[in-house]
Amino acid sequence: MRLSKYFIPTIKENPSEAQIVSHRLMLRAGMIRQSSAGIYIWLPMGLLVLNKIAQIVREEQNRAGAIEVLMPTIQPAELWQQSGRYDAYGKEMLRITDRHDREMLYGPTNEEMITDLFKNAVKSYKDLPLSLYHIQWKFRDEVRPRFGIMRGREFLMKDNYSFDLNFESAKASYNVMYVAYLRTFARLGLVAIPVRADAGAIGGDLSHEFQILADTGESTLYYDKAIESFDLSSLIGDIDEQTLAKLQSFYAMEEEKHDADNCPVAPADLKTAKGIEVGHIFYFGTKYSEAMGAKVTGPDGKEVFVEMGSYGIGVSRLVGALIEANHDENGIIWPEAVAPYKVGLINLRFKDESCTAACDDLYQEMQKLNIDVLYDDRDAGAGSKFADMDLIGLPWQVVVGPKGLEKGVYELKNRRSGERVELSRAELLDKLG
Ligand code: ATP
Ligand code: MG
Repeated sequence: MRLSKYFIPTIKENPSEAQIVSHRLMLRAGMIRQSSAGIYIWLPMGLLVLNKIAQIVREEQNRAGAIEVLMPTIQPAELWQQSGRYDAYGKEMLRITDRHDREMLYGPTNEEMITDLFKNAVKSYKDLPLSLYHIQWKFRDEVRPRFGIMRGREFLMKDNYSFDLNFESAKASYNVMYVAYLRTFARLGLVAIPVRADAGAIGGDLSHEFQILADTGESTLYYDKAIESFDLSSLIGDIDEQTLAKLQSFYAMEEEKHDADNCPVAPADLKTAKGIEVGHIFYFGTKYSEAMGAKVTGPDGKEVFVEMGSYGIGVSRLVGALIEANHDENGIIWPEAVAPYKVGLINLRFKDESCTAACDDLYQEMQKLNIDVLYDDRDAGAGSKFADMDLIGLPWQVVVGPKGLEKGVYELKNRRSGERVELSRAELLDKLG
């Protein structure tokens, strides 16, 4: 992509409405623009990252055996009346009336709709276990939308729903998702601590929130420092039963649920930190299947209510969480897995014909080699080009100027380490290809 023909409306000054670094950088780097409170336009660079995160989430869901569907954003109120949540959800739900005076709503989540789908489509235990997911926009009329897309009113969520015949099987489905979540966050290069969240009477602790540690997090966590020795960001391979059991036995709790007097962890081993919730998995048994009449015929021919769980990942919140975890004073530092482009190519001397010719040529060659490149071909000064490139945070920068060209070298800068090396054209293409 040529920057001269692209659309990255960057902002020089720090936007006054942004309280945290990810919000500030997303606005400054031209990734998002606010439309109204908690509702954002995703600009090209923001959208690229959002889609890359969604794709990693999708791949790990598919690998875990979940099946993708797409449910609508608008739902009939009737389903929520059946579950009893239509009134319970309160003001967070955006309610709509259509032209025929039918009550509708913009979905804040999809338990009701999926339970209804299941009820009408699945009749036998032979079709279980089943796990369906979608990646869809949600709307929650949050009291205080803040921190940009981190707590928006409209946001993108991956949510899936598991259906099982009995508790043992439901627990296995839960654990499959637990592992899929660890892998997903590991692929994103994030350390996400699985924090126990109480799920009520049945199933005990069959609910976990996944929290990224960051000073700007909204929750305060207490956790056993031993969990850190697990190197959560490298848990990409298969996780055996033992490792899973060990991980799930570690103490990690939100402040509200942490009881200092009865904490199983010795004070010296207990750590506290702020966290951002990026995912939540939850086993809730027959809560919705009973309320909505979702039954299957078991092996003995008797009908039973299906056992369910739901599993969410805040896909749009992750964009912010990733920036909270990856930035410096000059801007964003994208991990390669989610970077909008891998390489930024900077032409230092637009007015120098041979320099521009060399850049154009390199750009074409990179495209041929499928190197994902953003080419700063604008008629602008070197200083502002460097600043913009650091701000938008592509992992690699290639700097081309007349001096280097005389020597036949190109400068390659690593955005994260700041390390610069001079390479020949062939070496450069080899390294980036
Ligand atoms: P929170 O406690 O942050 O309000 P929640 O418990 O309401 O989260 P869930 O209903 O479990 O969240 O939704 C699943 C995921 O969706 C969360 O883990 C979070 O990453 C994301 N999410 C929830 N609310 C928002 C929001 N207002 N803006 C962006 N992402 C959100
Ligand atoms: Mg909430």
